[in-house]
Amino acid sequence: MYNKTISFIKDLYGNKDFIPLHEPIFNQNEREYVLECIDSTFVSSVGKFVTKFEEDICEFTGSKYAVACMNGTAALHIALVVSDVKLNDEVITQALTFVATANAIKYCGAHPVFLDSDIDNLGLSPDALEKFLISNGEIRSDGFCYNKNTGRRIKACVPMHVFGNPVKLDELSDICKKYQIDIIEDCAESLGSYYKGKHTGVTSKMSILSFNGNKIITCGGGGIVLTQDEKLAKKLKHLTTTAKIPHTWEFQHDEIAYNYRMPNLNAALGCAQLESLQSFIDSKKELFKLYEAHFQDTNIELLREAPNSKSNYWLQAVVLDNEEQRNMFLEQTNDNSVMTRPIWKLLPDLVPYQNDLKDELTNAKNFASRVVNIPSSCNFKGK
Ligand SMILES: *Cc1c(COP(=O)(O)O)cnc(C)c1O
Repeated sequence: MYNKTISFIKDLYGNKDFIPLHEPIFNQNEREYVLECIDSTFVSSVGKFVTKFEEDICEFTGSKYAVACMNGTAALHIALVVSDVKLNDEVITQALTFVATANAIKYCGAHPVFLDSDIDNLGLSPDALEKFLISNGEIRSDGFCYNKNTGRRIKACVPMHVFGNPVKLDELSDICKKYQIDIIEDCAESLGSYYKGKHTGVTSKMSILSFNGNKIITCGGGGIVLTQDEKLAKKLKHLTTTAKIPHTWEFQHDEIAYNYRMPNLNAALGCAQLESLQSFIDSKKELFKLYEAHFQDTNIELLREAPNSKSNYWLQAVVLDNEEQRNMFLEQTNDNSVMTRPIWKLLPDLVPYQNDLKDELTNAKNFASRVVNIPSSCNFKGK
């Protein structure tokens, strides 16, 4: 039944034996920089590539500051810590996201609140956020927002840009300002995605990127926190290292820090990958257009970027008619060595999150049962 699509994808990737969902692409400079890093002996937490990687990311995104970490999850954890998210605070996020978003909230001892997805972009819905805050939020005399049912402070909101599709940042930010809630964007999937002409993550208090092996560019493992505030950047650097007071020989540490820093070896790989980022983004847009032309003649809907935004099209996704069709699509493609994968389960359906607050999740449930990722690597059609 999905034969046409299967042969289209096989042909797209040169009829390889197995077509993965997403594979990294390395060129000559990846080898060169990593070797240079080894030859320098500075392979660990100090070195010129880490600084260069931070500078290059700032240049690409337009962020003022960037602090490299060992992975995206650690970056999100430290961003929440620096935002003062603590035991028994509440942090609003979406139910339909990768589990790491919520894990980082739990590391702080805080409680995630899982809200519905936006119909246009699959990310956190401003309507759901406003509805939740109108019925649960109250600004108390200290000027901060509390959940009047649980008595907990609602401290932060973590929207995530699903597969590189930007959320409606303007609307989310207006609502959060009104309730004194900080926004920390999970941009793990949205390097190279723009909302109203600005790179995702540069208009909020802080945001994070991931450079895991499956992301648009990779450091092997890696993450980064973006911020526009010098004080926050200093604090992030202090806590991602060992909180050492600079001194030639004394071991003076003034806080309990996390040692989340990115090793120089990983940064070397990242610096080379960044040189190819724009070409990866261009390829992914091209891939989207090829898929668009193919799916036009089928009853399968291809996910496209929402108004006001420019997606990096990191992972292409299709929306099947219903769960039964989705299961058939998954079975037939995977049986034919074309890797496809459903979108995540809703986080409140996972054991560690089953008792956390949530709303009706109407759109999220709908997407969770119908959305599937299809092969999205940049090495299609002999590229
Ligand atoms: C990949 C990813 C992360 C975590 O990044 P790691 O570098 O793998 O720790 C967090 N959030 C989202 C949405 C992701 O896709």
